[in-house]
Amino acid sequence: MLLDRRAFTAGSVALLSGCATIGVRTLSDCTPLAPVDADPSRLIRAVAGLRPYRRSGFVVRAEALGDKRLVHNYGHGGGGITLSWGSAKLATELGLQGHSGPVAVLGSGIMGLSTARLAQDAGFPVTIYTAALPPDTTSNIAGGQFHPYAVFDDDYVTPEVKAQFTRALDYSWRRFQIMVGDDYGARWLPTYVERRSPEARLLESFPPVNRLLRPAEHPFPLDSVLRYDTMYVETGRYLRQMTRDVRIAGGKIEVRKLASPADIAALPESLVFNCTGLGSRELFGDQELQPARGQLAILEPQPEVNYAFTGGPGYMFPRPDGILLGGTFELDEWDTTPDPATIQRIIASHKRFFASLRCTA
Ligand SMILES: Cc1cc2nc3c(=O)[nH]c(=O)nc-3n(C[C@H](O)[C@H](O)[C@H](O)COP(=O)(O)OP(=O)(O)OC[C@H]3O[C@@H](n4cnc5c(N)ncnc54)[C@H](O)[C@@H]3O)c2cc1C
Repeated sequence: MLLDRRAFTAGSVALLSGCATIGVRTLSDCTPLAPVDADPSRLIRAVAGLRPYRRSGFVVRAEALGDKRLVHNYGHGGGGITLSWGSAKLATELGLQGHSGPVAVLGSGIMGLSTARLAQDAGFPVTIYTAALPPDTTSNIAGGQFHPYAVFDDDYVTPEVKAQFTRALDYSWRRFQIMVGDDYGARWLPTYVERRSPEARLLESFPPVNRLLRPAEHPFPLDSVLRYDTMYVETGRYLRQMTRDVRIAGGKIEVRKLASPADIAALPESLVFNCTGLGSRELFGDQELQPARGQLAILEPQPEVNYAFTGGPGYMFPRPDGILLGGTFELDEWDTTPDPATIQRIIASHKRFFASLRCTA
């Protein structure tokens, strides 16, 4: 299903854009933006990934495993890139206090790499044990927007997990700012959000600066649009650089799937961080952890598109490696093969939408 933000039909676009003539390039009161050329012929790649979703939110918790200390850090749903530094900070604060000696990290997605880096910064030798390395992780599939989308369900989350979420978000927000630049493929972009989308609800507290635009201030065929600035990471480049950083700081990486807690108990390190994402369902029997499949259509890059959009047609994140069009949120769907019909639908809804901009740059 398309992000439960409902389909954006050709009819609704035509209706909403009735105040302007489609095809007019500029209107005096309209801030022009470069339209995305969402023609199916520009598709360069289609991908699907499984968000590690828990409706009660992500797990940062310590427990004993035989004579070891095990600290969980998994289940971040659609916000794992966003929460990575902050959640890793909470996990390392929990695990490293009073510890001496080397540390094991399970997993080398964004959560494992961030946890490893913070443990190294605190002076501990780290070995990562991982079934797969970037680019073969869910983290590589992510759009890379700094925005905590679909991290929990409000009806199931406890005040404690919400507080944990806020603390993680706050640290991540500040930490990502020092990653901005070409090395990590991280940059700021103006972001436009249709007011009635679920993402807009978060905006009362996050991000710190956002503004409801008057219809005349934006080119979109929509009544109500919010604008805010946030960061975007080109996930492939970011994870590559983070892997290098772990190695430069003396970290070791061993490619190996851990089949059971007994395998973990046999590791030489007495402190283990579990950052296996969706893998925690099988490894630790966490049945609340569900896949939430997301599919992306990636179009040829358009450097002139220097803003992001989220709303009726889905979302559009422009990255140097392609224009990312999302998205879906398909609970309990395990297949990582993109569905051609869904991909075509995502492209078609964006094509209609961008063809109806009231003015263009
Ligand atoms: C389409 C899509 C778009 C997204 N967009 C965004 C976005 O814009 N912003 C955002 O913040 N988030 C986004 N997300 C969510 C984000 O991708 C995830 O929350 C995040 O990648 C989870 O990171 P992780 O490190 O926990 O898991 P993973 O990246 O899955 O890494 C898990 C690691 O553990 C290893 N592992 C698993 N099981 C075992 C085992 N038994 N033994 C050893 N190793 C094991 C794996 O090999 C892997 O290395 C998106 C997700 C999808 C699918």
